Amino acid sequence: MKNSGINSAFVVKVGSLLNRHVEEIVVESRGFLSEIENSICKVRDDTPIIFNFTLENGANGVVVRGKIVSTWEGTCRRCLTRLKGNIEAQIGEIYVPDPDIETEYLLENENVDLSFAIRDALILELPLAPLCKIDCLGLCSVCGADRNESPCQCYESQGRDEFSALKILLDHSDTESEKAN
Ligand SMILES: [Zn+2]
Ligand SMILES: [Zn+2]
Repeated sequence: MKNSGINSAFVVKVGSLLNRHVEEIVVESRGFLSEIENSICKVRDDTPIIFNFTLENGANGVVVRGKIVSTWEGTCRRCLTRLKGNIEAQIGEIYVPDPDIETEYLLENENVDLSFAIRDALILELPLAPLCKIDCLGLCSVCGADRNESPCQCYESQGRDEFSALKILLDHSDTESEKAN
């Protein structure tokens, strides 16, 4: 079902709107889309995308306004834990027969394919750098341990190396003062 209907759920026939037989067309539906992703997050192609739009006549075509809701999945940018979250987008777009592809979408054979506007809007709303929690400690760059779960000793030993010269001096002065006592 997912494959057979993958795009038809998003195509709205707008002939009655263009002929002025109706004032508006309200679309409340859901469907699945692929390729909604950035380098770190995506809306999976088996995750429902729920949308609620009103289509009206514009100057040269059809104006589409409404809201889209779905769920993104990805990984924490520091510790790579799998994450999920809600994604929501509002759109106000224009479909015309001869679109400026920078700002408009194609109105073809009295059909509006909402999938184009939905995909673009959701991609813009995907998190670019999600975190599992604001103070995620991330993975240790030395041993790879998840520092949220098992604090490793790597940073402590690095610290010892950096300050080893100072530590020797301090050890030495301790010895001196012990002698004095
Ligand atoms: Zn994390
Ligand atoms: Zn480590």
